[in-house]
Amino acid sequence: MKQNTENLLAKKPILISGPCSAETEEQVMQTAIRLKATGKVDVLRAGIWKPRTKPGLFEGIGVEGLKWLRNAKKETGLPVTVEVATARHVEEAIYHDVDILWIGARTTVNPFSVQEVANALRGTDIPVLIKNPVHPDLELWSGAIERMQKAGITNIGLIHRGFSSYGNIDYRNAPMWHLPIEMKRRYPGMIMICDPSHICGNRTSLQEISQKSIDLDFGGLMIETHIDPDNAWSDAKQQITPERLNEMVMELIWRSDDSTEQEFINALLHLREQINQVDDELLTLIGQRMKLADLIGTYKRDNNITILQTNRWNEILQRAFNKGEQLGLSKEFIVRYFDAVHLESISHQNKIMNDQ
Ligand code: PEP
Ligand code: MN
Repeated sequence: MKQNTENLLAKKPILISGPCSAETEEQVMQTAIRLKATGKVDVLRAGIWKPRTKPGLFEGIGVEGLKWLRNAKKETGLPVTVEVATARHVEEAIYHDVDILWIGARTTVNPFSVQEVANALRGTDIPVLIKNPVHPDLELWSGAIERMQKAGITNIGLIHRGFSSYGNIDYRNAPMWHLPIEMKRRYPGMIMICDPSHICGNRTSLQEISQKSIDLDFGGLMIETHIDPDNAWSDAKQQITPERLNEMVMELIWRSDDSTEQEFINALLHLREQINQVDDELLTLIGQRMKLADLIGTYKRDNNITILQTNRWNEILQRAFNKGEQLGLSKEFIVRYFDAVHLESISHQNKIMNDQ
């Protein structure tokens, strides 16, 4: 089997780009030529087999697209990468000289599929990029890395493409930055690439998410590009033209990570990101608490009971003092915090009482 001599994942930052799906020979070739012309792209990507949520959508062009990719590589010199999910995909991709394979988010969630891919890879040492699983489970992500390592794959990189989360409206897939940060901590030598296209699901926040990943010392970007984004056969809303990619990349501020000052900045950024995440979770929980208060308010209103019931409040405070003590939180803080929560709760319930 083919052995890679050059370490294709060693470049930092690495920029991978190309269409969500290979659609036609012309589209693949034109995208490749226009990406090459930017002088910024290191690897050409294209989906050949597409895992679609619903049947009846474009499920990828299949093996024929691998020939188009091989031609595009010959024309531009760009190494190519495709998503693989089965042993047959692996065999076909390697047979058609694909340089790097990637495992998609819907595959990482399934240990059977990951193992099938790993078995098919045994004996090769092709670089493999592993996307995070669809849902926020770091053990599955780590498990996929271990399966590849056990199959003898040494050149592994990670791709952060965000996580599916209920109620999330800002992104197609919530970034949950603290999770890729934890993976960077667990696997310090492994490149972490950000895929802003699948995080955003639109074009408007690509720049912001890309910059954020660079600020968090990610090793590169995978961004979907298309010669006619609006008419793409998959993920039309999030793709941009190669020329737009060029502009975007020029506006990004790349930081070097070779100074101790940069190390300190990175450490600070990582901790702040984790604090942001915890604060978001706290606010979400407080929001849920207020919804419960609203429900209680409705019952009290319908049964003509007063809002404030002193006994209940003392009970809440006593519970919190005990819990707070175990967690190293001062009594003063607990009182101030619960006063604020209580006031907000009463104001919610007042609103309900007067809403009848
Ligand atoms: C893709 O990169 O086109 C893709 C299908 O991504 P993901 O596995 O992140 O959904
Ligand atoms: Mn896509």
